[in-house]
Amino acid sequence: FNVYGAPVIGEHERWLGIVIVFQDITELKRLEQIRKDFVANVSHELRTPVTSIKGFSETLLDGAYKDTETLLSFLEIVHTESNRLEMLINDLLDLSKVEQSGFRVNAQPMNMEAVIKRAREMIQPKIDEKSIHLKLEIQPINVLGDANRLIQVMMNLLINAVTYSSNHTEITIRLFRKDNRAIIQVEDQGIGIESSEIERLFERFYRVDRARSRNSGGTGLGLSIVKHLIEAHHGQVEVDSTVGVGTTFTIYLPLAI
Ligand code: ADP
Repeated sequence: FNVYGAPVIGEHERWLGIVIVFQDITELKRLEQIRKDFVANVSHELRTPVTSIKGFSETLLDGAYKDTETLLSFLEIVHTESNRLEMLINDLLDLSKVEQSGFRVNAQPMNMEAVIKRAREMIQPKIDEKSIHLKLEIQPINVLGDANRLIQVMMNLLINAVTYSSNHTEITIRLFRKDNRAIIQVEDQGIGIESSEIERLFERFYRVDRARSRNSGGTGLGLSIVKHLIEAHHGQVEVDSTVGVGTTFTIYLPLAI
C-alpha cells in the first residue's frame, strides 16, 4: 500500500481532521515486475548468442582458423547463433508491434484451407525430418482474416507441435464450423503440458522447460504473438493438454459471410 495523509482545514484555520489515503499498488507493482522481468529476459536472451559469437570468432582470430575442421565447425556455430539473434530480434519487433493498443489486422474474407496448406508447405521439411504423419481434416470454410498473419499463426502452432513431438507420431489439423465460428485445431501426440503451466503459456518468454525449449530453437515469444494476432482477429485461442499424451491448440475465428 501507498499511504498519503493530509490535514483537512476548515474556516478560520480550524482543524477538521485528517484524510488518509491507502492506495492499493498491488497491480502497479505487478506490472512493474512484469516490465522488469521482460527487460531482464530480453537482455539474457540477446546476450547468450552474442557471447557465443564473440567467443568462437575470437578463438578463430587467435589462430584456430588454421585448422580447417575447427574453422568450419566454429563458423557453423557463429552462423547458427546469428540466425538465433535474427529470429529473436524479428520476434521482439513483431511482438512490440502486435502488442500496441492501436494494432489492427487487415481482415478480409479468405479461404482458410489455403492458409493451412501454405503453412504446412513451409513446415514440411521439419515434418519429414521427424517422419511425422500429418493428417488434414478440413472443410472448405472462409474466415474473416489477414492471410499472412494467419499463416504466421499456423506456422507457429505447427512448429511447436513438431518440436515437442517424438519421431513417427501424428499431427492432425482440423478446420470446421461450429456455432457461427470457424474452428481450427492443431493436435499433436507430443510431450504435453502440465495443467499448472497452461495459464502462463502465452506469457512472453515463458517456457515450460527453459533449456529444452531454447535448444529446440524457439524464441519463447511465439505463443504471445499468436495470442495477440488471434485477439486482433476478434478470435480466441485455447489449449488442452495431457502430459505424455499430447496437446491440442484450438483457435476460434469469425466466419466470412
Ligand atoms: P518456444 O519458442 O519456446 O516454443 P512458444 O511461445 O512458442 O515458445 O511456446 C512456449 C512454451 O510452451 C514452449 O517453450 C513449450 O514449453 C510449450 N509448448 C508450446 N507448444 C507446445 C506443444 N505443442 N507441446 C508441448 N509444449 C508446448
